Amino acid sequence: MAQDTVRQVTVLGATGSIGRSTLDVIARHPRDYRVFALTGHSRLAELERLCLEHRPRFAVVPETVAARTLQGSLRAAGLATRVLAGEGGLCEVAAHPEVDAVMAAIVGAAGLGPTLAAVRAGKRVLLANKEALVMSGALFMQAVQEHGAQLLPIDSEHNAIFQCMPGDYGRGLAPVGVRRILLTASGGPFRCWPLERIAEATPQQACSHPNWAMGRKISVDSASMMNKGLELIEACWLFDARPAQVEVVIHPQSVIHSLVDYVDGSVLAQLGNPDMRTPIAHALAWPRRIDSGVAPLDLFAIARLDFEAPDVRRFPCLQLARQAAEAGGTLPALLNAANEVAVAAFLDERIRFPDIACMIEAVLNALPGEPVDQLERVFAADRQARDVAQAWLQRFGR
Ligand code: NAD
Ligand code: MG
Repeated sequence: MAQDTVRQVTVLGATGSIGRSTLDVIARHPRDYRVFALTGHSRLAELERLCLEHRPRFAVVPETVAARTLQGSLRAAGLATRVLAGEGGLCEVAAHPEVDAVMAAIVGAAGLGPTLAAVRAGKRVLLANKEALVMSGALFMQAVQEHGAQLLPIDSEHNAIFQCMPGDYGRGLAPVGVRRILLTASGGPFRCWPLERIAEATPQQACSHPNWAMGRKISVDSASMMNKGLELIEACWLFDARPAQVEVVIHPQSVIHSLVDYVDGSVLAQLGNPDMRTPIAHALAWPRRIDSGVAPLDLFAIARLDFEAPDVRRFPCLQLARQAAEAGGTLPALLNAANEVAVAAFLDERIRFPDIACMIEAVLNALPGEPVDQLERVFAADRQARDVAQAWLQRFGR
């Protein structure tokens, strides 16, 4: 690629697991990609280190005091990086006219505003922040259409499905000859645990994923299988599928990242080592292919691929998410917000692992779903669900 086609990339959530993998891929291709902006919410010393390494035009931190501190140290190091603060800063670097691609890798509902800002500015949006799409599904996809944004999935399963779908998808599965999507799941660290043992699980056990090293929130989601529930909703929006057309398949090796089942009996799959740099490199360069630093797949070393049906009795979050997907409206936003509060409470050791599903169910029973016609309704549902979840926590938590 010539020098004048260098792509400027904003990395939202640069200090996280996906953020760091993204910077690793970018650093392998200095003539093709340049870091335009880096953002971080905590671990600001790490953000400073990343700024010194990648020399971005902008950095964004949560508030103005932290911004002044970081600005001072970057200036002292001879960097011209401008440091911005808060959600306004995040939206500014997501939508900046000089930016080509935005990696949306903030975790949770906090990522919705900045991710939508990138969409509305018509950017190439590399979507890791699944919670944003789960919350605002229809409005998000409408904004992608209206503003001509290019939405590329980073979630390994959705990136795999994207690679296996025909080019002209997006108006239901039937018109493109697809029968169903097979969404693979590792089953998480508790896949073989009996219910009684799961009931006593600690945060550390929940965060010890067998195949992937990820942030703590998504690690707990993988242990509860809420991650697969959120991904089911994500798949419905990305590929215009009905929930019943998405089947969850447990595949403990995490080598097949998902499959697409066609009406003629063909089933296409994408395989690879479980390393997020593959979907990141794919989405950055699409439709080209670039080196991601991921080792080639060694099928002889893997030797076998196993498949199981999920057990909703031990993993009720999967069922709660499927119900929310079918009900639609604000239900997925309520589910997501309740889950965020529950996961944080579990990590703080205020509730036990099975209480995550109990809290979410209590929130969904307490709040009626509503149709979503504007974003304000989504944010209102998010706030209401957090309030009900906090009240539940006061009553039943430690
Ligand atoms: P992480 O916890 O490692 O990183 C999260 C990032 O978001 C950090 O940079 C953090 O500073 C920032 N952040 C947190 N709260 C914020 C707030 N309130 N405002 C602004 N920034 C905030 O998480 P991760 O594992 O990198 O996951 C990021 C997203 O990618 C999640 O939505 C997750 O579901 C998705 N994802 C991750 C993986 C993975 O392998 N890690 C795989 C698929 C999808
Ligand atoms: Mg995934």
